[in-house]
Amino acid sequence: MSFDYDLFVVGGGSGGVRAARVAAQTGARVALAEEDRYGGTCVIRGCVPKKLMVFASEYSGMVADAQSYGWDIESGSFKWGAFKNKLHAELDRLEGVYRGILKSNGVQTYDQRAKLVGAHLVQLADGTEKSAKHILLATGGRPVMPELPGIELGITSDEIFHLEKLPDDILIVGGGYIASEFAGILHGLGVKTTQYYRGSQILRGFDNETRNLVCEEMCSSGIDVHLGTNVTEMRKEGRKILVNSTGGGECCFDQVLFATGRRPNTDGMALETVGVALGRKGEVLVDEYSQTGVPSIYAVGDVTDRVNLTPVAIREGMAFVETIFRGNPTRADHELIPTAIFTQPEIGTIGLSEEDAAKQEKIEVYATSFTPMHQSFSGRSGRVLMKLVVSQKTRKVLGCHIVAPGAGEMIQLVGVAVKMGATKEDFDRTVAVHPTMSEEIVTMKTPVRIT
Ligand code: NDP
Repeated sequence: MSFDYDLFVVGGGSGGVRAARVAAQTGARVALAEEDRYGGTCVIRGCVPKKLMVFASEYSGMVADAQSYGWDIESGSFKWGAFKNKLHAELDRLEGVYRGILKSNGVQTYDQRAKLVGAHLVQLADGTEKSAKHILLATGGRPVMPELPGIELGITSDEIFHLEKLPDDILIVGGGYIASEFAGILHGLGVKTTQYYRGSQILRGFDNETRNLVCEEMCSSGIDVHLGTNVTEMRKEGRKILVNSTGGGECCFDQVLFATGRRPNTDGMALETVGVALGRKGEVLVDEYSQTGVPSIYAVGDVTDRVNLTPVAIREGMAFVETIFRGNPTRADHELIPTAIFTQPEIGTIGLSEEDAAKQEKIEVYATSFTPMHQSFSGRSGRVLMKLVVSQKTRKVLGCHIVAPGAGEMIQLVGVAVKMGATKEDFDRTVAVHPTMSEEIVTMKTPVRIT
């Protein structure tokens, strides 16, 4: 049977574009459909604009720091309009890069929505049908908001990059990555920031000592974090939004941002009618080769709700191409993924939390928390954390958790050693880089806990 294409990719985000490009480089005939902007969540409404906002927000503390280092400079004000224009120009540029990558590799693009009408057949929004030997679903995810009275008054992270003006004050609901990152960003940009989280500590699932320190530092920087608190109802009160919360509290805010999780984008794609099974959240169910129950259909990235991170989607896309177009069956590796959370202070983490490691085996914990040189000279109180979780039996470092400026950069490098199976003694053998914050990671001699 002859097909229009060897591969049809649905979704032009990080995973889909990478898979399309590398498949095309093997000589395959590849097409890709995207209904929105190329680059997906990461480039258009996620990692990239978020990180640029982190950079913008961090300048607020730098003027006071510079003054304490002897600079005679005055603090100015943040101009959201100027930043926003530049931000969107940069996103336009990056979208152009993504389109360019596809074009220069000979991938045929369709700027429209696609749904499946068969195991080898895709239907575009204009009604045309395209057949392909393989179909790759890479449609990502979208933010979801809880159902409660007045929810239409809230916004999600998708809207935050398009605000006409920055609010004077904001309530952020949620305690995950997005909520905690935007609390730091908006506070740094001068917005009076309150965060409600329904649980007992933000960033559930991460190492407890790490979560506690980040929350403490966020509070001491001036973010009003309310734990064990959730929104029950919202209504308009003049130009403000009146928010009722669990416990009976009532407060007014200019904006309410819900960062209450994300859902895979599988609605309206007719996946189940062609036999692709979906999980409870609507995620495409795949095996370790990213293959669905329909042999010709694969899925990568957030639409599969495995590890929802851009570099993981890219790896899954690469493994798919290696398996299908290079004849080398390759599983996507989800073990020991280093990651950063751009809270302020930042977190870099890899491997098991102390709590999870202790459930698995006997461990030693090495940790130190201190005010680094840069802050202590300028009179700022912020503390950092360097922590290693070590297996008593194998001596391997099972987890490394860093809270510090630049923790994301640090954990990328520690990640190589941990992925190679480095032991505590390998860390000890490495000479410290002095004077740095991260030198502590190789100089901690005595465990603080043995469990
Ligand atoms: P998360 O799943 O990380 O967090 C969702 C938060 O919302 C949790 O605190 C959750 O509480 C809370 N929540 C869920 N439902 C409700 C509800 N009905 N009412 C109140 N609170 C609720 O999702 P995010 O949206 O923050 O991020 C999505 C994913 O995007 C992340 O998991 C991550 O994979 C990725 N991401 C990665 C980043 C990075 O690498 N730096 C940055 C941003 C996103 P509870 O804990 O009680 O369930």
